[in-house]
Amino acid sequence: MGCRQSIAYCPNCEAKRKRWETLQPRYLEKGVKEVNQFREGICNRKAKLMYSTHYFSNLNDREYMVEDVEKALLYGRVVERNKLVNESIVSYVLLYFSKNKPLHVVVDRLDNENYLLTTVYNPLAHSWKWNETFDKRICFCDSKH
Ligand SMILES: [Zn+2]
Repeated sequence: MGCRQSIAYCPNCEAKRKRWETLQPRYLEKGVKEVNQFREGICNRKAKLMYSTHYFSNLNDREYMVEDVEKALLYGRVVERNKLVNESIVSYVLLYFSKNKPLHVVVDRLDNENYLLTTVYNPLAHSWKWNETFDKRICFCDSKH
């Protein structure tokens, strides 16, 4: 991996990052409760989780197993909660370590009973976006500067 630049924040998305830092703690608190409801719902078979085709292609291309993803869904830590454009869908990023390799799983809550597993990725693939523990987004740009 080499050494990573420590907390020299990206100047190109500073306003966005600051806004995010203000809002995210509250969103996260909600997200933790909601993800617990999701887990209960799945265990009680009251909620359904659908898998996007995007997820399957990610799984084929990348280095994770279905079990890694399932563990992340059950035990992963909520590191981000976002409302999507139409405001009714909420999206969560869960962090899990599979044999010390970080894994982010993105789940969308479509409504109280329906969820969509959107994607799975290694945050190291976009390491500039994340802090060293992969639990906090520090850059919102699509490419590294
Ligand atoms: Zn940036």
